[in-house]
Amino acid sequence: MVVVWLAVLGVIFGSFVNALVWRIHEQAQLADKKGKVAAKRRQELSIIKGRSMCPHCGHELAAKDLVPVLSWLWLRGKCRYCGTKIPDSPLVELFTGLLFALSYISWPQTLQGAELATFAAWLAIVVGFTALIVYDLRWYLLPDRLVFPLTGLAALQVFVVAVWRQSGEEVWMSVLGAAVIFGLFWLLFQISKGAWIGGGDVKLAVTLGLLAGTPFRALTLIFFASLIGTLVSLPQLLNGKNGLTQRIPFGPPLILAAIIVVLYGTPIADWYQHLVLPS
Ligand SMILES: [Zn+2]
Repeated sequence: MVVVWLAVLGVIFGSFVNALVWRIHEQAQLADKKGKVAAKRRQELSIIKGRSMCPHCGHELAAKDLVPVLSWLWLRGKCRYCGTKIPDSPLVELFTGLLFALSYISWPQTLQGAELATFAAWLAIVVGFTALIVYDLRWYLLPDRLVFPLTGLAALQVFVVAVWRQSGEEVWMSVLGAAVIFGLFWLLFQISKGAWIGGGDVKLAVTLGLLAGTPFRALTLIFFASLIGTLVSLPQLLNGKNGLTQRIPFGPPLILAAIIVVLYGTPIADWYQHLVLPS
């Protein structure tokens, strides 16, 4: 039963992700503008205080327009007032719901005491991750305003678990994990002058490494991210001409790999050990 509620909660947060991503992007466009009009617009776009509105005509949306997935199906993805297609996708809502449910089913720790708090923090991280995926797919960018709060959450999670288990070793292993991914990405960024890997990916690396928890898991994360990235770009590569000119953001594969490693890192590590040291 809990899993159903969590899935529904995830769908609702997915709806929030759609609005969040659009607002952060609009605010970024406004960043350099001055004057009254920009100030008013800024207020309308406030993530906490602003009302939901159509991105095209600016009409305020009523509660019936905001029911996740169902409103989209009913209105076929168009604004009720101006008829323009709205970029918000119900896929984002369903994806977040699925991740919430999967996280509950596959959560590697207990759900007691401080570990319940880390589960809640993980769900918040999942919401941020989904927003980053959508942002990167649309605008080829991982905005600091999403990346840095996630780094804070991941660091807090590591710290809380360490205090709860009275073990400093886990903190050092997580920091080492972060150093492995950050170091590698930073090097790739420097060598290629930003051609192979984006600056946003380098900043995100710290969060990914902290979540991975150990250097081995950090390397596993990079392996899965490369695998997913290759699989996703394969159809384009095989298609010929435009294959290599089309940019493929690396953020989404990295984030999917992080989710895999957080939820399934232990069985993966066990399997690998079995492979290397057969008993
Ligand atoms: Zn509209």
